[in-house]
Amino acid sequence: KTVTTDISSLTKDIRNFAKEKKIEIESLKVREEYRREFLGNVSHELKTPLFTVQGYLDTLIEGGAIKDKELRKKYIERASKGVERLIHIVQDLDMITKFESNDLNLELSSFDIIDEIQNVFDLLEMEADKKNIILMFDEKYTSSIIVTADKEKIQQVLVNLIMNSIKYGRENGTTEVSVEVINKNKVLVRIQDNGEGIDKQHLSRIFERFFRVNKSGSRAEGGSGLGLAIVKHIIEAHQEKIFVQSTPKKGSEFSFTLKKGK
Ligand code: ADP
Repeated sequence: KTVTTDISSLTKDIRNFAKEKKIEIESLKVREEYRREFLGNVSHELKTPLFTVQGYLDTLIEGGAIKDKELRKKYIERASKGVERLIHIVQDLDMITKFESNDLNLELSSFDIIDEIQNVFDLLEMEADKKNIILMFDEKYTSSIIVTADKEKIQQVLVNLIMNSIKYGRENGTTEVSVEVINKNKVLVRIQDNGEGIDKQHLSRIFERFFRVNKSGSRAEGGSGLGLAIVKHIIEAHQEKIFVQSTPKKGSEFSFTLKKGK
């Protein structure tokens, strides 16, 4: 009898062990798949600008464009734009990788969020002008509002969201930013545009890295498909929340919370 019991408990142990190993292998497979997909996306993103740069440089080397001063300037400028885009993609990738391996520390300080919005407006004014988009700040909240957060990273959040409102905004449109103290601990920042909007079926995926509604459109605008993934990581690292509402052809509203500072 004793022997039977031992054997049956041994069989149970072996089964449990096999089950655990199976789970481990499954999770390794998922990680491997994830890595493969990530690398595939990365090389795909890098290929387009690399080929562009190579194309312009080849044309210059082959001689046709090098003699014509105007054409030469144009091709060098385009090659340089391609390199700029590569740098931008690599910087975004660097940030995403750091976030995904929990390797990014926040440097908290208290600062005036309205000042930061003004700085980002100044930085992006030229981009907005190209599409005749007006960057507006809701007049109701002009006095200072202090928040406690990582200033540089929140700046990046504002740049990404406001830049998107310009990229996917319509000609002669507006981007309106507002800040509201919602209770004694929280501030809500809202970025609203009246651009192309996002279809309901895509809305739940736009924070995924490399996801874009219109791939070629976004690339033409210099997008890497990483902007919103970075924004979400930054907000969540602050243990805050981000929201999106959108109506196709009417516009989108992105909003996020921040801790109110003193
Ligand atoms: P990128 O702009 O580089 O493509 P993002 O991660 O910033 O990448 O955005 C992902 C996608 O979400 C964009 O390609 C676009 O389709 C959509 N999107 C983001 N912001 C807006 C917006 N304000 N209006 C409409 N669509 C947007």
